[in-house]
Amino acid sequence: KLRASGPVTVAEYMREALTNPGQGYYTRRGGVGESGDFITSPEISQVFGELIGIWYISEWMAMGKPNTFQLVELGPGRGTLTEDILRVFKQLSSVLSKCDVSVHLVEVSPKLSEIQAVMLTGGKVQPNPEDESAYMKGISKTGIPIFWYRDIQDVPSGYSFYLAHEFFDALPIHKFQRTEKGWREVLVDIDPEVPGQLRFVLSPSRTPATQNFIQPEETRDHVEVCPEAGVIVQRLASRIEKDGGAALVADYGHDGTKTDTFRGFRNHKLHDVLSAPGTADLTADVDFSYLRKMAQGKTATLGPIKQREFLKNMGIDLRLQVLLQNSGDTATREQLLHSYDMLMNPDKMGDCFNFFALLPHHRLVHPDKKDKPKSKSPLPPVAGFNELLLK
Ligand code: SAH
Repeated sequence: KLRASGPVTVAEYMREALTNPGQGYYTRRGGVGESGDFITSPEISQVFGELIGIWYISEWMAMGKPNTFQLVELGPGRGTLTEDILRVFKQLSSVLSKCDVSVHLVEVSPKLSEIQAVMLTGGKVQPNPEDESAYMKGISKTGIPIFWYRDIQDVPSGYSFYLAHEFFDALPIHKFQRTEKGWREVLVDIDPEVPGQLRFVLSPSRTPATQNFIQPEETRDHVEVCPEAGVIVQRLASRIEKDGGAALVADYGHDGTKTDTFRGFRNHKLHDVLSAPGTADLTADVDFSYLRKMAQGKTATLGPIKQREFLKNMGIDLRLQVLLQNSGDTATREQLLHSYDMLMNPDKMGDCFNFFALLPHHRLVHPDKKDKPKSKSPLPPVAGFNELLLK
């Protein structure tokens, strides 16, 4: 492609390397997990997904226990997170008893959707169901219907709780460099000196992206922008505004301060992003300030808050104590303590991962607060973003 038509944007390079239908990394490998290229929190500890399951139940209760909801996960990886959430839903079935729950997974990788199907349904799925916009459907081991889609737009409208864990960091970014002549876009090209090697170059003039995506008040010299993340957040915000629900986004990222974060992972080691495209995971930090801007007006936002604070507020310490008390052997106890440390230690995943939420405005502020401040009971706090009050 580069030989035929010249340099491409980093976004186009990333999209091809990750999701090209024949050669993309997620299409062919999708190496999440210990035996893959990178490990994620739900793969480290069941407690992570359990606490997220509790978050949804808590929000469902705070929003008046609607009689139906969809759990919609973007980029479900191996399906472990959904599996842990559904186990919590099963354990709390007496609370959820009158609620009609369905699961909707947005996944582009055929390989990972197969792994998810085995994990969640035992492999009993129906491909291309005629009556649905989904490309696959099945029933979870706990009896909940599950549907698979390639795009969020295919998911039916309705009251929904959305989840995106380590999803936005996999979406293509544009990279920009400030120069003496103004902003230039970073492009990927073939190195003319070394056959078979790629290199970064700067666009000779401004590109449509430099004009559309750089804010006039920008102070950094190097900026990464992920327009696809912006579009998806706008869609989530519109759906939540119209049909109700909430979205929980968890990822590594920053609040509009970092510069060059584009990197690759292969076999749990950093990998040169330009070498052997399609064989390594490519990723960039999520800019939460950009997501907040994209949601603005339609929904309220909370966070980003550090993973260790969110999980502490959700009661991870209490859950760990219960699991430790219930486990007889030393190996299991050591494993529990080790995975707790991975999730919570500020030098491991505790500080660099963040939680961020989209919520309907009325969830945070009474619509008629100004007029009748004393007529309503106070709104319950949003779990995870405030300190947990144990009664
Ligand atoms: N949430 C999981 C997996 C994270 S890896 C976990 O935490 O373990 C990223 C996931 O997003 C993979 O499932 C990948 O196939 C999927 N993905 C990447 N780009 C996508 C896109 N454009 N649309 C839908 N899914 C995508």
